[in-house]
Amino acid sequence: MSDYRHIQEEDASVYEALVGEDAREVRGLELIPSENYVSAAVKEAMASSLTNKYSEGYPGKRYYGGQEYADQVETLAIERAKNLFNAGYANVQPLGGANANIAMYFALLEPGDTVLGMDLSHGGHLTHGHPVTYLTKIFNFVRYGMKDIETGEIDYDEMLRIAKEVKPKILLAGYSAYPREFDYEKLVAIAREVGALAVMDAAHIAGLTAGGAAKNPFDYGFDIMTMTTHKTLRGPRGGMILTRESEELAKKIDKSVFPGLQGGPHMHQIAAKAVAFGEALRPSFKTYAAQVIKNASAMAEVCKARGVRMITGGTSNHLILADVYGSLGITGAEAEKMLDAAGITLNKNMIANDVRAPMDPSGIRFGTPAITTRGCAETDSAQIAELMLDVLTKAKDVTTAKIEVEALSEAHPIPESFD
Ligand SMILES: *Cc1c(COP(=O)(O)O)cnc(C)c1O
Repeated sequence: MSDYRHIQEEDASVYEALVGEDAREVRGLELIPSENYVSAAVKEAMASSLTNKYSEGYPGKRYYGGQEYADQVETLAIERAKNLFNAGYANVQPLGGANANIAMYFALLEPGDTVLGMDLSHGGHLTHGHPVTYLTKIFNFVRYGMKDIETGEIDYDEMLRIAKEVKPKILLAGYSAYPREFDYEKLVAIAREVGALAVMDAAHIAGLTAGGAAKNPFDYGFDIMTMTTHKTLRGPRGGMILTRESEELAKKIDKSVFPGLQGGPHMHQIAAKAVAFGEALRPSFKTYAAQVIKNASAMAEVCKARGVRMITGGTSNHLILADVYGSLGITGAEAEKMLDAAGITLNKNMIANDVRAPMDPSGIRFGTPAITTRGCAETDSAQIAELMLDVLTKAKDVTTAKIEVEALSEAHPIPESFD
């Protein structure tokens, strides 16, 4: 629990909100698959004096003086990031995952160029070409998808056919709501065949890759990876861009992030990234990453046993996408609300070929990065899945469920460090 002594004295209103959020996080069970809990060390870095510092530029090449410590933390973050992902180059300045993707597009594309990425309703992200983003006014986004929603198999033949037709500059892998792993080898072969760069948006699975529990796209020849640092990677909110080996691409990306897109980097956040990457380099992070997947599998087993339809039939990573409308006759929004009342947080989500609308879709998306950080193992995860389904089928009333959620939370306090 954080010490807010000064805020308490000087700003009662903000203080109230901060302790409220702390208590909410302690009491509830967090199943949003893009959330996690950072260590106390990461929080300390986020609250450090580096928030005061202007450091436009890169280590050794800045537009302001007084950079000895800023350079020190950014260099540490870069070296550790390269180490974690076996990358040739790293830019740790993007403020978030969306910013990382935008900078990547502008580094590699001219206006009007084509990106071939995953269909958003099959799991792709807003920044992969959703019409509500400004990106679609500048670049041309074309989509591939799953061949079979029940197994999650991607249609690589169709991907190749489209790629030959539209000649994309970027063939983009990566997703926010897809519970399986891509065949990276096939994707890279298609990219090479049509002269596209192979880019992986690893926002969700970065921690699984860093921890050796998921494949590393660089091992299969991907050119670039973008990612967030706050999801499975368990660092501060932020983004980064890695290049496998091309110095030329890395230079373009650096220019695109600054001065192309951003101003001064958030050095306190970069210090926190360095701390989190240090944590992820420890052997204990490998155990964590493997456990995240085991826990998600345990939850999927329960869903299967209770007849809940999962998109792709289950999971091979940290998340599950369940068709609650098709299986239980309640909408995604209803399910989200019922579980919220019981202290379980997750999100409603569109499913492929959804018969319902985005604000009240058929699915819910949930996952295990946060509960695994709390020390939950397979039996706890299965118990949480049973509890969830008991609430959704009204086999258990909300008051009883809430008491069980609080007991589970109390038995698994949020740790301050991970060793
Ligand atoms: C979360 C996510 C992003 C965006 O990250 P933000 O930090 O929210 O901007 C980008 N791509 C994918 C695949 C994501 O899951």
